[in-house]
Amino acid sequence: MEAQTILVLVGGAGATEETAVVAPYEMEKLWEGIDECKRAPEVADVHLLELAAGAARVLVATQETDGVTARALVDLPACEVVEMRGNMHTATCTACYDSEHIAYAIGEHRCAHCGEWMMPDVVPPGASILTNTECRMRAWIKTMRPGVCYVVDAAVPFASCVRPFIQYAKQHGCAQVVHVSTDPSYKVKNLRGGETLQRRL
Ligand SMILES: [Zn+2]
Repeated sequence: MEAQTILVLVGGAGATEETAVVAPYEMEKLWEGIDECKRAPEVADVHLLELAAGAARVLVATQETDGVTARALVDLPACEVVEMRGNMHTATCTACYDSEHIAYAIGEHRCAHCGEWMMPDVVPPGASILTNTECRMRAWIKTMRPGVCYVVDAAVPFASCVRPFIQYAKQHGCAQVVHVSTDPSYKVKNLRGGETLQRRL
């Protein structure tokens, strides 16, 4: 089978839940949540690796903010990764806007310069993704014209953040939308669905 150009949209769950907008007095709680979010590559990442390895070109757009997906795919030259909701490994000071890499182990989440709280560089659930992220994804889709769009993670296949890109891919020649579940007994299959999905769009 000829290698395809594919678009992979990862619904994402878990990690982003911890990064909802919080009041300054809740910053301690926010950081506790984020520090607990460290995870190892899981079933979804293995699926991604399989999908991406067999593709001619692939864009993986993930809503995970922990960087695990990007690290899993870093060695594949044909693969581009967009972290739609940012990456929790860097943070910006809420007072002086200084930005730095975060060392989780330190557990120190105050600005080294002014002592105020650092805010992780992530887009909270419910908020729109950044304009430059959206432009980059649309440009890729328009140029590469992926033949297949994979929507990963059954929990949120219709997440508002992902839906416009499925539609955009379809407008640019994407003939097939495939749903991938993180449940190993489910495997990869056409969404019962592909049709349900199209109707809902
Ligand atoms: Zn500062």
